[in-house]
Amino acid sequence: MPVRLVQHPLVQDALLTLRDAVTAPEEFRRIATRISVLLAAEALKDLPTRARTVETPLGPATGQAVAGDVVVVPVLRAGLGMLDAVLGLLPTARVGHLGLQRDETTAVASQYYSRLPKGLEDSYVLMIDPMLATGGSAVSGLDLLCRAGARNIRIVCIVAAPEGVAVVERRFPDVTIFTPVIDEGLNAHKFIVPGLGDFGDRLYGTT
Ligand code: URA
Repeated sequence: MPVRLVQHPLVQDALLTLRDAVTAPEEFRRIATRISVLLAAEALKDLPTRARTVETPLGPATGQAVAGDVVVVPVLRAGLGMLDAVLGLLPTARVGHLGLQRDETTAVASQYYSRLPKGLEDSYVLMIDPMLATGGSAVSGLDLLCRAGARNIRIVCIVAAPEGVAVVERRFPDVTIFTPVIDEGLNAHKFIVPGLGDFGDRLYGTT
């Protein structure tokens, strides 16, 4: 089952603040980072580690250090609101960018920019896009990542629609979607209901 519902109370609390129409962009950005930290931590739970020994003030202590290569790929522009969270957790993560634009009337996604790091074959690739709506952008992004060699891809989003989840499941059954919620569905304009509105506009105050 490729959907992992993240039901941690802190995640659900942050989601409610993001949904609230009175949340101003400054707070929206702060809470978007908070929820993304929690979601990314969940999505990277199976990262490989290797034993390493350090010296505490009282002697040697052996623990586990992260050993896997992580590539985080925000889908522009809304995905940028989740990027700092992942880099805060994993400052050594490599970053790719995908520019996918949704036609306002048809809701069809077209790619206008792509810059990915090389050697994705053995990387843990985290595609971050807060709103999984029709699944059009997600599928375009996943197509591109697979063509670039990625084999281990997860999607992290903040709100998902059943329509988008179904499309991703059908086309990419090996990709796991990490989300706090699957909402009721899409409206006539392909917005998620109840959702939280246009994530990019809420983030940058462009409403
Ligand atoms: N993108 C958004 O920002 N919001 C939606 O509801 C759907 C797509």
